[in-house]
Amino acid sequence: MTDAPVLDFPQATPPENGTFREVAPGILWLRLALPFALNHVNLYLIEDGDGWALVDTGISDTATRAVWQGLLDGGLGGRRISRLIVTHYHPDHAGLAGWIAEVCNVELSMSQGEWLTSQFMRHHPGATAAVDRASFYRRHGVDAEMATGVASRGHAYLRMTTDLPGHYHRLIAGERITIGGRVFEILTGGGHAPEQVMLFWRDGGVFLAADQVLARISPNISVMGYQPEANPLGLYLRSLGDLTAAIPDDVLVLPMHNLPFYGLHQRIGELRRHHDLRCNEVLEACRAAPLSTMQVLPHLFPRALDVHQLGFAFGEVLAHINLLVRTGDLQQQTGTDGVVRFSPA
Ligand SMILES: [Zn+2]
Repeated sequence: MTDAPVLDFPQATPPENGTFREVAPGILWLRLALPFALNHVNLYLIEDGDGWALVDTGISDTATRAVWQGLLDGGLGGRRISRLIVTHYHPDHAGLAGWIAEVCNVELSMSQGEWLTSQFMRHHPGATAAVDRASFYRRHGVDAEMATGVASRGHAYLRMTTDLPGHYHRLIAGERITIGGRVFEILTGGGHAPEQVMLFWRDGGVFLAADQVLARISPNISVMGYQPEANPLGLYLRSLGDLTAAIPDDVLVLPMHNLPFYGLHQRIGELRRHHDLRCNEVLEACRAAPLSTMQVLPHLFPRALDVHQLGFAFGEVLAHINLLVRTGDLQQQTGTDGVVRFSPA
């Protein structure tokens, strides 16, 4: 067996939080801190005439706003923000979109799926805490206390984001946008978010992958309570296949977390194998006896998790289960206690 080639990281260390450096011709890599276990997010600034097109914003909190205030007060080499592109609705990416669009007086560009989802999350924060959410978790074997903890996460979205403008420019897969003379092909993909935007600058050999393909970490692929039968892992794997076909292997990948890298196709292969292994672990766990989602969870996440981590882990486990139900590898049965349990078909 030969060792798999390792990914190539052209810049071994990231910029300090709140600072930026050039990562490709005319593209700056800006690093911002996040108050989570995943403690940072990468943003990119693309030279756009006398301004910068900003891709993603960071989370809405006091520290991030302070960093942005400094950057906008002359920290961007005397250039203004000329437009704002947001890859997906998650707070670490879209958090300050409303604020920056207003302060910089620029148009916001997003895909329709991401814009609508953000609006939905902000205007109906109870959507992730509604009463039927509790029954969703109970069906999957979650006890009442944890169900309450996990279900209250919807309100956190409000705290970590700002109101989006009431109008936006829609980014559509297959179309192109030109930024500072560079033509970017627009791609979208599901799984991590409904319609996450990625940008491919073919002539420059640069691929802005958003959170779809990250080095070293696997993007969170979760079933959400408002769409309990969803198959986000199926969508994600399909998107990885689409990316392999659409994007050459020799591009510089600019992801929104971790380090920029070369080795796109290899990394996609690693991510596919990771999920294959996870699916096999789920099937193995259910072979001895039918298990609920909550009972499968420790087989995939053996260490102790806090409520925040448990919510993500639960969604991830159910994503693998829902895929295996779709493919016919798992069957489900509802017990007299109302809990759904899964066994190999
Ligand atoms: Zn992210």
